[in-house]
Amino acid sequence: MTYNKKNIEDIDVAGKKVLVRCDFNVPLKDGVITSDKRIVEALPTIKYLLSKGAKVILCSHMGKPKGEVVAKYSLAPVAARLTELLGQNVELAADTIGADAKAKAAALKEGQAMLLENTRFDKREEKNDPEFAKELASMAEIFVNDAFGAAHRAHASTAGVADYLPAVCGYLIQKEIGVMGKALADPERPFVAILGGAKVSDKLNVINNLLTKVDTLIIGGGMAYTFLAAKGYGIGTSLFDETKVDYCREMMAKAEEKGVKLLLPVDTVVAKAFPDPIDAPIDVDVVPSNEIPADKMGLDIGDNTKKLFADAAKSAKTVVWNGPMGVFENPTLAKGTIAVAEALAESEAITIVGGGDSAAACEQLGYASKITHISTGGGASLEFLEGLELPGIACLQDK
Ligand code: AMP
Repeated sequence: MTYNKKNIEDIDVAGKKVLVRCDFNVPLKDGVITSDKRIVEALPTIKYLLSKGAKVILCSHMGKPKGEVVAKYSLAPVAARLTELLGQNVELAADTIGADAKAKAAALKEGQAMLLENTRFDKREEKNDPEFAKELASMAEIFVNDAFGAAHRAHASTAGVADYLPAVCGYLIQKEIGVMGKALADPERPFVAILGGAKVSDKLNVINNLLTKVDTLIIGGGMAYTFLAAKGYGIGTSLFDETKVDYCREMMAKAEEKGVKLLLPVDTVVAKAFPDPIDAPIDVDVVPSNEIPADKMGLDIGDNTKKLFADAAKSAKTVVWNGPMGVFENPTLAKGTIAVAEALAESEAITIVGGGDSAAACEQLGYASKITHISTGGGASLEFLEGLELPGIACLQDK
């Protein structure tokens, strides 16, 4: 999927009421924000609009209140943090499209911002209900979508409003579609994709689509064992999806047919049982991937595999990575994931890390600044890699 969408610099926002869909779904503990990353990332778009004299109406979902008003999912902590970060008051409306929201939106002055209450407090949001979208849109003259993390959902505030307002993207979405779109449509080669995580079934379509684009596809993590089993190796008690063995065989044949190098783990860190609790100390051995004992499970990639994968990443010109190489929640089993993060950080290539666990690994290790692009959306970046159309982006005006 390639997109060439208008952004906030392509339209005149001065004096206009601009509805901005952000991803303020930040982690909270006892009502306190534990990471304000998503708020900080939204600031360039908000600041640009304010500096141009727009009247900025921010909105977002938070958590899964399932269409009910649930106090713990109020965006109040976000409004407070935005007020601090912007150095100007960002008032929170008491509702999303009710009387208070409308009155506050109508009273906004140029260069002021406000925040609507959680869009998912109304069950019509996730149904992309046209009446709800119309009410949201009625408060503004322009719609800006900057919530990449929610762009794979066709909800009222991510896509529906674009039926009623001229719609463009903010800087975050612009960067996501710019970097990932280029990697998929016109990559600098060699192009290497590294996939990990627990299940083959979650990444079926991603594997299928990437095989038409990459030079090398690397598969690690729990999903690798179904591939190893499909090659006829014994995998002991490792994660295994019997229903996907044929699919894995098909993908291996497709790789060969397309001339894509498919790299699987050549050695494996094994243990008697899955760690319980997940970060408990664990006794491990390392064995070749075709010699996994019948009573052991593979929980991370071994040293030879780390080197194999790292060398591929370092000699690439474009690398996309999504999903951990092992049970990285456990320090003993995190080494494969850390090695891949390190290889990306050291690579001269354009490096793109899909959201979720792999993004968190890069950030925790302090490598974030050495990665070209860390996607702000886990699910959305996977759908992008699958080649699917993202409704929250498709609805925006073309250049
Ligand atoms: P996903 O949600 O598909 O991205 O997978 C992430 C999860 O995969 C993490 O919680 C890891 O602990 C888990 N994982 C990675 N490798 C393995 C493995 N070899 N066996 C079991 N779980 C794994």
